[in-house]
Amino acid sequence: MTSDAERKMQFLFALRSKGVTDARVLSAMEEVDRARFVKGLFADKAYEDMPLPIACGQTISQPSVVGLMTQALEVHSRDKVLEIGTGSGYQAAILSQLARRVYTVDRFRRLIREATEIFDSLGLVNITAVTADGSYGLPEQAPFDRILVTAAAEDPPGPLLAQLKIGGIMVLPVGQSDAVQSLIRVRRTGEGLDYEELRPVRFVPLVEGLGQE
Ligand code: SAH
Repeated sequence: MTSDAERKMQFLFALRSKGVTDARVLSAMEEVDRARFVKGLFADKAYEDMPLPIACGQTISQPSVVGLMTQALEVHSRDKVLEIGTGSGYQAAILSQLARRVYTVDRFRRLIREATEIFDSLGLVNITAVTADGSYGLPEQAPFDRILVTAAAEDPPGPLLAQLKIGGIMVLPVGQSDAVQSLIRVRRTGEGLDYEELRPVRFVPLVEGLGQE
């Protein structure tokens, strides 16, 4: 039988072998227990490097993808970060270890309620979770140092680009929902926006309006 410590070591080893090498990101991922964000049937698969189903027909992303996206975001300890697509809350919890403040938005009330309960139980007091259509960002808290989108849009949503500070970075998957998408990094400089394509990824689509649950 594999002990929790061994499983955790294998988890971190798998992350490193897939390119997650940033020490701050790895220690955040060591700190936050993914099993807390995966319920029921799938909880015993929490330390495997695979996406898993969560409520409302959504998915918690594959840990290595969470790690690579977090690493690409280059989060600093003074940063105010916006995440679009709270889902289980796992990615937001990782960000909360690295940033000053995290705002996370989902279109399903139920996901926001459940993620908030987990944040409270873990004492993650620097995360605020909000039910809203994240395509419009969070204008009342803008601008942001970093924006991470964990659902795929065909193009980077204009309101999100507008809510990025100069010097800010946004990481997001772009492309059709039924095809392979590209993970993109956008940097806002004094002159405009720089785009960089990072790797192929697969995410659920960014959907307009609020969900029914
Ligand atoms: N980051 C999550 C996984 C995200 S799955 C985690 O760590 O578990 C993608 C999420 O994006 C889903 O929960 C979905 O409801 C949400 N989503 C899709 N379109 C959205 C929109 N327009 N606004 C806010 N959230 C959206």
